Amino acid sequence: MNEQKLEIVKSKNLKPKPQSDQIPFGRTFTDHMFVMDYEVEKGWHDPRIVPYEPLTLDPAAMIFHYGQTVFEGLKAYRAEEDRILLFRPDMNFQRLNRSSERLSIPPIDEDQVMNHLTELISIEKDWVPSTEGTSLYIRPFIIATETSLAVAPSQSYKLMIILSPVGSYFTGGLRPVTINVEDQFTRAVKGGTGMAKTAGNYSSGYQAQAKAYKEGNADVLWLDGMEKKYIEEVGSMNIFFKINGEVVTPELNGSILKGITRMSIIELLKKWDIPVVERKISVEELYKAYEEGLVEEAFGTGTAAVISPVGELNWLGRKMIINDHQIGELSQKLYDTITGIQTGKVEDRHEWTLEVK
Ligand SMILES: *Cc1c(COP(=O)(O)O)cnc(C)c1O
Repeated sequence: MNEQKLEIVKSKNLKPKPQSDQIPFGRTFTDHMFVMDYEVEKGWHDPRIVPYEPLTLDPAAMIFHYGQTVFEGLKAYRAEEDRILLFRPDMNFQRLNRSSERLSIPPIDEDQVMNHLTELISIEKDWVPSTEGTSLYIRPFIIATETSLAVAPSQSYKLMIILSPVGSYFTGGLRPVTINVEDQFTRAVKGGTGMAKTAGNYSSGYQAQAKAYKEGNADVLWLDGMEKKYIEEVGSMNIFFKINGEVVTPELNGSILKGITRMSIIELLKKWDIPVVERKISVEELYKAYEEGLVEEAFGTGTAAVISPVGELNWLGRKMIINDHQIGELSQKLYDTITGIQTGKVEDRHEWTLEVK
């Protein structure tokens, strides 16, 4: 067994905490971070919480050349009585290991790292903002650190967890967005890395994102990479449609990211006896249903926004205006329920939340 005792080095210069609740996403970081190293002979070792600071890496560190890296994203919420809650963090560490497997990165001990994360949050408690809609965003990630230009898995890695207070995703309530259905670029294909949270999946989407923005859209809806026929997901959100009373979301096929919000929504809908199916859905089928007036709601789901209602879809010059650009009743109910559970206002019957003591 390696020495796995958590070392803690406290920062001597604490930073001022941001006052505003309109903090730009991911630009402010807390006083401390979690670090752990991997070497083939030692395994994962030396877990530590240290002052937040820049890294020094060799320019030939493998991460810079072939992108062997994975990440996660979750949040800590300030609940009633100043309790701090995490939402299904076990799922994030499970997924981190699934992503790592795809990228040939050695697995972490999920329970151990989750315990270290709760220690870190406990130290940074005062950084969890309290205004409605705000939270402390948690970014665990692993990078390949071996100094080598060989095209092969790294022999050493670094796992880090950094924390960033984030403002409300929607100022002034949920606002439906316009999304472009991408007909040229591909995000992922079956057998590729679409099911992993790994850097290259996102940077390879920037061209399509820029094209969408230029035409006044807020995001991209990706289609399958083979036929450009079946709906997959949005930039960093899964997608749901309510069609003629039934909720439909694309089935997991290896190229779609398995969202924890997606999973939670499916579980809630089942509990509420609202029909929900995971299946292939083509954009043509959606358009036909739209023309027949059957598309009642559409929404993206992910940790950042929880629910992001879709008010309009643009596909090959055709427009689908959904629910008159208004928030659907079900979208609102799902949003209220999940954010309610996250902040301790709605009873957590599923044991989804974990309190940080
Ligand atoms: C993170 C992510 C999601 C949403 O996952 P959650 O676990 O719900 O936050 C969906 N799609 C992509 C591509 C993602 O990176």
